Amino acid sequence: MHDVIVIGGGVIGLSIARELASSKSVLLLDRGPTGQGTSHAAAGMLTPLSEADDQGPFFQLCRTSLAMYDRFVEELQQESSLDVAYSKEGLLSLASSEESAATLLRRYEWQHQAGFEVELLPPGEVRKMEPLVTVPVIHALFMPGERSVAPRRLLNAIRESCFVRGVEIRTGVHVDAVSPNTVHFGHMTMQAASIVIASGVWSAELNGLNPRIPLSPRKGQILSLAMAPGAFRRMIRWGHSYLVPRPTGELIVGATNEDAGFDSSVTPAGLGRLLMDAQAISSYLGSYPIVETWTGLRPATPDEFPILGSTAVHGVYYATGHYRNGVLLAPITATIVADLIEGHKPRVDLEPYSPSRFESN
Ligand SMILES: Cc1cc2nc3c(=O)[nH]c(=O)nc-3n(C[C@H](O)[C@H](O)[C@H](O)COP(=O)(O)OP(=O)(O)OC[C@H]3O[C@@H](n4cnc5c(N)ncnc54)[C@H](O)[C@@H]3O)c2cc1C
Repeated sequence: MHDVIVIGGGVIGLSIARELASSKSVLLLDRGPTGQGTSHAAAGMLTPLSEADDQGPFFQLCRTSLAMYDRFVEELQQESSLDVAYSKEGLLSLASSEESAATLLRRYEWQHQAGFEVELLPPGEVRKMEPLVTVPVIHALFMPGERSVAPRRLLNAIRESCFVRGVEIRTGVHVDAVSPNTVHFGHMTMQAASIVIASGVWSAELNGLNPRIPLSPRKGQILSLAMAPGAFRRMIRWGHSYLVPRPTGELIVGATNEDAGFDSSVTPAGLGRLLMDAQAISSYLGSYPIVETWTGLRPATPDEFPILGSTAVHGVYYATGHYRNGVLLAPITATIVADLIEGHKPRVDLEPYSPSRFESN
């Protein structure tokens, strides 16, 4: 008998298990090996400012989580002795059309007025900062506080840290259903005071849930190129595509966002667009070797907010639906779920993320 059972070993489930392990005995179950779901596919951008058009609660949630990252990474690297390739070089957002330039300017104005770290750059400055950028630019923003991490390294580090903190991890366990304080798999049941559903885009498949949740997969195709270390330093957003340079020498080019059900194939149309955009940002990229192509399924909710909180099934909590921001939101999600389970008042208002918003499902 454990105090807590976490179902799902992606960035969300592992982070929650790790956080709770200091006060509770925790068992984490995953149907596969841990860290091979959507989290394995992520680009690892920790970038709440670069797409935000207002200061709503979700933006605040993302900012709060980003503010927790320094400590999160420091502890993880110390406990695991692994390097998670955390980069603090910032992000350049580039606009080449009048329409995207207007969007960028609006973003600059509200963020600057609100006191966030954002700079409007003269176009010539972009080439000084990133000499290999060749796309013509009308407006450019620099957000020095935006960060990135290598998700696969992060997953390894969180898993190691879980072991150090005493989390029991069992893989190859496909949970079929939940009932009050109980998980069911095959002909077996296990009980715990608290059960956390952190099964990513597959969370809605479990039987016994109440309320049921409308999660849908949004497919992302993504690839990596080999670059000379340091060729690019900062993340770059342009149109619907982005580049994320890793200190380890890979350049991530992402990502599509497709409504394709649970299909996870890599397609000529998807990769084609990414490769075209990458070469538009920098003509140098045409000669970089492709290292890997892959896909992931983002767990999307209709309002694009995560689902955090207790359910109508006694002892069962949701921590899912993190859509495009699960890596960014891992530290704050872990803290929120730990607060709920330990009986503390969560440090953020959970109303916008409450499972009860789907009660009619
Ligand atoms: C192309 C792409 C790029 C992205 N880029 C970013 C980014 O730059 N920044 C960012 O913050 N986010 C990004 N995301 C989003 C991020 O990857 C997700 O929000 C996050 O990975 C969700 O994590 P999770 O732990 O909820 O799910 P997952 O990582 O999918 O983990 C769920 C786990 O549950 C297990 N599981 C499922 N069902 C069961 C069951 N019945 N029984 C037992 N185990 C089960 C699975 O095996 C899996 O290990 C990106 C996503 C994609 C696809």
